[in-house]
Amino acid sequence: MTRSKIHVLPAALRNQIAAGEVVERPSSVVKELVENSIDAGSSQVDVTVERGGQGLLAVRDNGFGISSDELNLAVTRHATSKISDVEDLSAITSFGFRGEALPSIASVSRFKMGSCTADAQEGWFINVEGGEVVDEGPTVMPAGTSVEVKDLFYNVPARLKFLKTESTEARRCNQVLFKISLANLETGFSFISNGREQFRLPPNQTLPDRLAVFWPRNICESLLTFSHEAGEMKVSGCAGIPSLAQGRGDRILMFVNGRPVQDKLLLSAIRGAYKGRLISREYPQAVIFLELPPDLVDVNVHPAKMEVRFQDERSIYSIIHNGISQALSRYELGVVEGLDT
Ligand code: ADP
Ligand code: MG
Repeated sequence: MTRSKIHVLPAALRNQIAAGEVVERPSSVVKELVENSIDAGSSQVDVTVERGGQGLLAVRDNGFGISSDELNLAVTRHATSKISDVEDLSAITSFGFRGEALPSIASVSRFKMGSCTADAQEGWFINVEGGEVVDEGPTVMPAGTSVEVKDLFYNVPARLKFLKTESTEARRCNQVLFKISLANLETGFSFISNGREQFRLPPNQTLPDRLAVFWPRNICESLLTFSHEAGEMKVSGCAGIPSLAQGRGDRILMFVNGRPVQDKLLLSAIRGAYKGRLISREYPQAVIFLELPPDLVDVNVHPAKMEVRFQDERSIYSIIHNGISQALSRYELGVVEGLDT
């Protein structure tokens, strides 16, 4: 290979490279857009996908919107309204903060965003193709934000090849939205795939009510709800009774400060609480929400923020373990007392 001069890459190409980390597949787009909607204080978020999100992927919300003069910035890399200085990084309360999602998505799709703030006369839209702004102007729309992503990865054939079938990708979008909905019970959500409504969740549901839309009835009816505090930390959620444990581990969902995470420590704490109550290779159902001061957890480990790092792993383990095992003991005690009478 002959050596070329070192040069700074053009913005569109930089965004495409960054997109590789943030936007792996249609469901990552759903996650980023819906998290933006929640950060914007929306009480209703509607998601539509066609052809598993490869044809169209649209998210519309009724949040506080973006003013017309800022819409261009919203699709600019490292532009965010959510943090300002390095101190903010250690106390993140919003889902977003990197200012990377929209420019990344817009660099690998035909992207259209319209937004209208509550006090504006009219909204503003911007069209971006492969990272280049191709059109913008005024638009008539209700307050909130609407994003349409078409032809995802049309300019990144390598990524397209790695996508699964349309129905698998649609199912992943469905799952991502389902998980986000569990941590945001006050918000209403709907999901439409290929013109068919897959679910509609009214705002202000309880966790068991929301779970009942997705999980079998017998499981939801016997879920034990729990809440447990230790110092500045709190864990709450629902846990399945041991006799309904199953061979599948996909009904264990974990959230840290409202973010869905995949974390071995939390998983082992949950399984630890069921130890001696299940036979091997059985998994319980559990949905746990761990809340702790933002400075005790680092969410800035991974661009998609699925991984987190804890400062004090031991106390995290014990609060979760104790919270769930106490709920299980109370239930077992109740069963025994029930047998006595
Ligand atoms: P981040 O969420 O990390 O700030 P994004 O690229 O996802 O970065 O979004 C950039 C900015 O655009 C956000 O900081 C926010 O100000 C604005 N924005 C994006 N989506 C919405 C939305 N649905 N409603 C209101 N503002 C939004
Ligand atoms: Mg964001």
